[in-house]
Amino acid sequence: MRLILLGAPGAGKGTVAKMLTEIDGSVQISTGDILRGAVKDGTELGKQAEAFMKAGDLVPDELIMGIMGERLKEKDCEPGFLLDGFPRTIPQAEALKTLLADLGLALDGVVNLNVPRDVILDRLTTRRTCTDCGAIYNVKSNPPKEEGQCDKCGGPVVQRDDETEEAISKRLDVYNEKTAPLAGFYQNEGMLWDIEATSSGVVVNTIKEKLGL
Ligand code: AMP
Repeated sequence: MRLILLGAPGAGKGTVAKMLTEIDGSVQISTGDILRGAVKDGTELGKQAEAFMKAGDLVPDELIMGIMGERLKEKDCEPGFLLDGFPRTIPQAEALKTLLADLGLALDGVVNLNVPRDVILDRLTTRRTCTDCGAIYNVKSNPPKEEGQCDKCGGPVVQRDDETEEAISKRLDVYNEKTAPLAGFYQNEGMLWDIEATSSGVVVNTIKEKLGL
C-alpha cells in the first residue's frame, strides 16, 4: 500500500504506520525519525536540522525533499510505503506529486487522522520514545517493561527535546498554519480519507476496509 498519514503531532501517525507495516511489508518512512537519526549521528543534515527541530519549527523544504527524493527510490519501498510526517507543507506536497509521477508510482490514499486538541496535548506530554529504534511508549497507557529501557531493542526511552510544553505548543501552531491546509489540497485531488483517530486499532481497520484488505 502507498499512503500518506496526515495529522497533528500526537495524532498517532507513527503508531498506525507501524501497525500497517505488518499487513503487507510496506515500509514506514518517518522524516522525523530520519532527522533525529541524523542529529544523533552528527551528520551535515543533522547539523542543519537540529535548531529548527528543537524550536518546534519545520526544517526547510529543500532539505526534506533532498531526503525523500533519495529515500523513495530505495528497494525496500517496492512493496509500498507509509509516509509519516511528510509532506508537511503545500510545497512539499507539490514536490511529492512530481516525484511520484517521475517514479511512475500512484498513492492509494491520504489518511487524515482527526484527534481533539486536549487528547493530543495529553498524549504528547506523556509520550516517550526510544532513541535507538524509534519505538513509541506512553508513561500512562503503554510504559516500557523496564523504566527507561526499550522492550524491543534495549535502547534508552526518553522524552523528546521537542516535547516540552513550549515546543509542543509551537509544533501545534506550526501544524495549524502550515500542515492543516494539506487536507484541502488532497481533498481537491479526491484522495482524502478523514478518520476519527482516538483508537489506532479502529483506524487500521478502517484503512484496511478502504483498501479492500
Ligand atoms: P515528527 O517526529 O514527525 O513530529 O517530526 C519532528 C520534527 O522534525 C518536526 O517538528 C520538524 O522540526 C521536523 N520534521 C519532520 N518532518 C518534517 C517535514 N516533512 N518537513 C519539515 N520538518 C519536518
